[in-house]
Amino acid sequence: MRVYIIGAGPGDPKLITVRGAELVARCPVVLYTGSLVPREVVAMARPDARILDSSSMTLDDIIAVLVEARDAGRDVARVHTGDPVLFGSTAEQMRRMDALGIAYEIVPGVSSFTAAAAALGRELTLPELSQTVILTRAEGRTPMPPRERLEELASHGATLCLFLSITLLRDVVAALTPSYGVDCPVAVVHKASCPDQQIVLGTLADIRDKVRASGIKSQAMILVGRVLTATDFADSKLYDPEFSHRFRRSVKPAPTARGQS
Ligand code: SAH
Repeated sequence: MRVYIIGAGPGDPKLITVRGAELVARCPVVLYTGSLVPREVVAMARPDARILDSSSMTLDDIIAVLVEARDAGRDVARVHTGDPVLFGSTAEQMRRMDALGIAYEIVPGVSSFTAAAAALGRELTLPELSQTVILTRAEGRTPMPPRERLEELASHGATLCLFLSITLLRDVVAALTPSYGVDCPVAVVHKASCPDQQIVLGTLADIRDKVRASGIKSQAMILVGRVLTATDFADSKLYDPEFSHRFRRSVKPAPTARGQS
């Protein structure tokens, strides 16, 4: 018996991995995290599967379901949105499973931050502009560790992806503006990869007004950084003809013989 902690992806049911889909279709118990997991993914379960929504459960309730499945020798598909290792509250479940001797395995998924970048059609790491992506959130009811306050993280100028922060946009703008500047591009992507996906593009100066006008209040990724609009970045070394690497020799022209041309 095993619990498979599966990333269901950001919304498009085709963005679950093949392995994740196979496990959802095979496991006799499917325990999924409520409204954010696509209906079509839950519908992949076999007809006789026990299907449970964990959104109204406590941690104890969830563990009780897992223990019951363990005692019955039934595998569980524990389905989370996006990728389970980011803001998934999976660690506390795994800690309990460790204590109970329940075997589990994580099956990764497409996170909403990559789905949001895909929706924008942008690369988050551009040569010499930003080679670092910070995945974080603003401080709301969940306190942030002191050294991870947005003002601190902002000092690096890295590309930022903010989860769980759309209702805190005012604080986000205030914390980032001193380091990034008022003209820094910001994108808000609501329900990335879903049919009703919405994109709002702006700068730190105007994003609040634009998001307010759009009515977006939940399920949104905030991306911040010059990479969102830059066109004057350097070409990467990867495809540079004069740069050789493991898979390609440099095609630098051979030196011409002395005396010729
Ligand atoms: N594990 C998930 C994140 C869960 S926390 C992942 O990897 O994506 C929930 C937050 O994720 C939301 O507040 C929102 O910021 C973001 N999110 C989830 N699905 C999203 C989507 N389809 N589009 C934009 N943001 C999304």
